[in-house]
Amino acid sequence: MTDLTSLTLAEARSGLANKNFTSLELTDAHLVAIEAARALNAFVLETPDQARAMARAADAKILKAQGGPLAGIPLGIKDLFATKDVRTTACSKILGNFVPTYESTITSQLWRDGAVLLGKLNNDEFAMGSSNETSCFGPVVNPWRRKGSNVGAAASGQIEGAHLVPGGSSGGSASAVAALLCMGATATDTGGSIRQPAAFTATVGMKPTYGRCSRWGVVAFASSLDQAGPIARTVRDAAILMRSMAGHDPKDTTSVDRPVPDYEAAIGKSVKAMKIGIPKEYRLDGMPDEIEKLWRDGAAWLKAAGAELVEISLPHTKYALPAYYIVAPAEASSNLARYDSVRYGLRVPGRSIGEMYEHTRGEGFGAEVRRRVMIGTYVLSAGYYDAYYLRAQKVRTLIKRDFEEVFARGVNAILTPATPSAAFGIGEKGGADPIEMYLNDIFTVTVNMAGLPGIAVPAGKDAQGLPLGLQLIGRPFDEETLFSLGEVIEQAAGRFTPPRWW
Ligand code: GLN
Repeated sequence: MTDLTSLTLAEARSGLANKNFTSLELTDAHLVAIEAARALNAFVLETPDQARAMARAADAKILKAQGGPLAGIPLGIKDLFATKDVRTTACSKILGNFVPTYESTITSQLWRDGAVLLGKLNNDEFAMGSSNETSCFGPVVNPWRRKGSNVGAAASGQIEGAHLVPGGSSGGSASAVAALLCMGATATDTGGSIRQPAAFTATVGMKPTYGRCSRWGVVAFASSLDQAGPIARTVRDAAILMRSMAGHDPKDTTSVDRPVPDYEAAIGKSVKAMKIGIPKEYRLDGMPDEIEKLWRDGAAWLKAAGAELVEISLPHTKYALPAYYIVAPAEASSNLARYDSVRYGLRVPGRSIGEMYEHTRGEGFGAEVRRRVMIGTYVLSAGYYDAYYLRAQKVRTLIKRDFEEVFARGVNAILTPATPSAAFGIGEKGGADPIEMYLNDIFTVTVNMAGLPGIAVPAGKDAQGLPLGLQLIGRPFDEETLFSLGEVIEQAAGRFTPPRWW
């Protein structure tokens, strides 16, 4: 039998329906792969017993032709999603061994549709980061290596310097999907955390329109920017997962009540006469030639498929990153106030309640999270609120307007590079200067600031043999167009799988 882990989700779905194999066999193949890939540190919790029980239940349903759209498909879940009776930590020491008594809306929809839980995936602490290095469980290793690199699998938990990051914050999701440890994964994106790791690992990542997927039961980072979505191996697989993840949820007041389309039907749809915007402000000084070339290739592929390319201007782009690093920390500092050592996880005692808070938060939060809480508290404080927070919100409105004007002129989607570079080495960036790390999201944060959908699709490789991705940005609630265009790029660029070395 072929290695079941190398199938796409869509292929596995037909294999299961045709009874070529069972979900238990498919699940077991993934559990074996996960065990053999512990050096990647992608999973922070494996749930083999639960996985097999869910697989058996799915098999029984498939046999009676009652399986849902994801019946028997094994998935990984970012550790930011609350899973009932299964430890959920946001990869922060402060949540300790927190075991939720409830299930996030998104994961409950996945189980409703028959999916199987393989375990919880590593991420940057509270989703703050671009490299998965801020996780309290340690960094995730990218299954991609630079050309000629023969760094091997280190002993469990010990990561050699020459390994690459998978991006972040959804680094575990991206690494696990790329390394064939799960057929797809949930992820979240506040400033780029679905799209940037997808680009670093040659996977497909869809960040839906704000309000498309419920945030209920997803650990909050910056509530007005956070949005969950899938990371998958193909555009079609991402579309299949999106259909189960999306939908209105009365428990999330920002969730939008609109019907969920059959996203898969968008795959293969003609993109003829679609107008694709190329924003001139995304052409950065000093951008590597490889990224420029990738962008030109992407434009040429879309043109060959019948789309029309137009140059556009998004004049406020340069303010997006600074404004994001005011809005996101402000909301984070407020959201993270709930970790008071009384209601959840870790408690470090003190002589007074104030001291207990201080000790717990000082020990429980990592350095990046503490930095964000301090920035956030500062920009929200009485004397600085107008100068920073209010101003950043105004800039946000201008960024949103830039996009609205472009879409009003008939542009259907915008094509940009997903990241300014390929994956970098663990420990290589952001040590002395956090801004170096923040710059990773230069092409992705604008999308969150405007609440728009964005997809990252693998599109090529750099001279070192590392994957690079393109991003497509869409009109609000028009994820379908992004799936159609994304598939054109996928067809032209081909698919990329890292050779197995771990
Ligand atoms: N890298 C960005 C940050 O650190 C975005 C993270 C995310 O999207 N969750 O805030």
